[in-house]
Amino acid sequence: MQSTMMNYPLTLDHILERAGTFFSDVQIVSNMPDKRLHRHTYGDFHQRAKALAEMLIRSGIRPGDRVATLMWNHYAHLEAYFGVPAAGAVLHTLNLRLAPDDLAYIVDHAEDQILIVDDVLLPLLARIEDKVHFKHIWVVPLTGKPVPEPFEDYEGILAQARGDFVYPEKDENDPCGMCYTSGTTGRPKGVVYSHRSTVLHSLASALPDSVGISFNDVAVPVVPMFHANAWGFPYSCTMVGSQLVFPGPHLDAESLLNLYESEKVTLTAGVPTIWMGILQALDANPDRWKLANMRMVVGGSAVPESMIRRFDRFGLNVIQGWGMTETSPLAAISRLKPAQASQSDDERYAYRAMQGLPCPFVDLRITDERDQAQAWDGKAVGEIQVRGPWITGAYYRLDKDAASDKFAADGWLRTGDVAVVDPDGYIKITDRTKDLIKSGGEWISSVELENAIMGHPEVAEAAVIAVAHPKWGERPLAVVVRKAQSELTRKQLSEFLQSKLPKWMCPEGYVFESEIPRTSTGKFNKLALRQGFKDWRWDSE
Ligand code: ADP
Repeated sequence: MQSTMMNYPLTLDHILERAGTFFSDVQIVSNMPDKRLHRHTYGDFHQRAKALAEMLIRSGIRPGDRVATLMWNHYAHLEAYFGVPAAGAVLHTLNLRLAPDDLAYIVDHAEDQILIVDDVLLPLLARIEDKVHFKHIWVVPLTGKPVPEPFEDYEGILAQARGDFVYPEKDENDPCGMCYTSGTTGRPKGVVYSHRSTVLHSLASALPDSVGISFNDVAVPVVPMFHANAWGFPYSCTMVGSQLVFPGPHLDAESLLNLYESEKVTLTAGVPTIWMGILQALDANPDRWKLANMRMVVGGSAVPESMIRRFDRFGLNVIQGWGMTETSPLAAISRLKPAQASQSDDERYAYRAMQGLPCPFVDLRITDERDQAQAWDGKAVGEIQVRGPWITGAYYRLDKDAASDKFAADGWLRTGDVAVVDPDGYIKITDRTKDLIKSGGEWISSVELENAIMGHPEVAEAAVIAVAHPKWGERPLAVVVRKAQSELTRKQLSEFLQSKLPKWMCPEGYVFESEIPRTSTGKFNKLALRQGFKDWRWDSE
């Protein structure tokens, strides 16, 4: 017997048409470089994304060709998110925080044909221009100033569209987008998403016990659209018709808080670095902004429990998600089950500080070095391996042998994240394999130490790295940023930690710095820290 269901392809074209049909009056707001709020609607977006698709095809773009973007989060980037795939092409979002060499490498590796770039980012383009070649460069005039020669004006291009665009036929497995990992280890590696994987990821993200996205939401993706598809928010929000508000280039706490207040935002998403800044602004001025009961999806790095507690005091609900570029990215999210309602506050906070349950259709296991599955008993530690319909099974133009350490023999993705899973299925990440500290044969979790240090009321942030030690092999060194005006000493911090953790886990070394170096995606740059402290001498304290 066969099913009687239609074989209907899951493509982004449907989401674009749906937005134009049912949500044409819903607003899309973008904060422009001069802080003017640009407003248009899903109706405008629908027409303009199709105009872009038409012009891409008329410019010679063929199915599967790559179209790159070098853009902040705003209306035109959303048009590219849908217009490029509608044309049958592949959207390649370039991370504008990458080093010029890496950017040039990625453009060349992906063989990008056309670039759409913000006018305010032309100076960045100038730094790679002699190393890359595009057939066309279309410039979005965000500042309203004329586009300089020899570039083409994106608005002028759209204005040439006849409006007779017909979607090229697609298979749901056709590619629609690609991202490169930020290359903290080795050269960046490309991951190619399909229409099907993106649609399924959007459906799973929108579920109530996942991010829970609705047309009642006003959503601000702070996470850049050049990083892991802004965690799929542009796709999932457009699918359900939520109002979208984009921060443009303004990612400082005050600009974001102003936007949250003026647009009555209910949902936002970004990495912990951003929220650290927001917390400091709120602490300094608790009555300045009147915010709605906003949900804040936080991921990309572990979320300290202290941060979740502090946001609760302002009525802001932190929801932790876990994933990576290779997993589209959402793979797990921390929501409490009904049974947890009867637990103590402390227990519930401990759960919210975990990475949560895997999403539907994400299979997850933790494994030892020989890929043997470990028990879910809340004690056994292992590397997280995953598989599922929006998880990459390979890297773009990297042969299987070169990527063999990234996939288990049976094809599951090795994430490099180390975790325990409790009997209820909640994941708690203890480290990345390369950041663990091995001291006297025992593993110490840098994440656990960082969270404990950041629990101190006078600490703004802290990163812990392994440093070679003559007796123990490695010992943890804590790099700490104190809050303004704090005179916290090493001794006080060390006593505080020893009241929370076993002594052997506590760092011997503390260094106070004014900031912690970041990667292009806003994470602690542990590689740079390890480099900077590689000659650290334990008696230099
Ligand atoms: P890259 O691997 O290039 O840094 P990604 O943005 O894809 O770029 O990062 C994925 C990694 O980020 C994960 O493998 C994990 O180590 C970390 N990560 C993401 N979300 C969380 C989280 N909620 N808690 C802890 N680590 C996280």
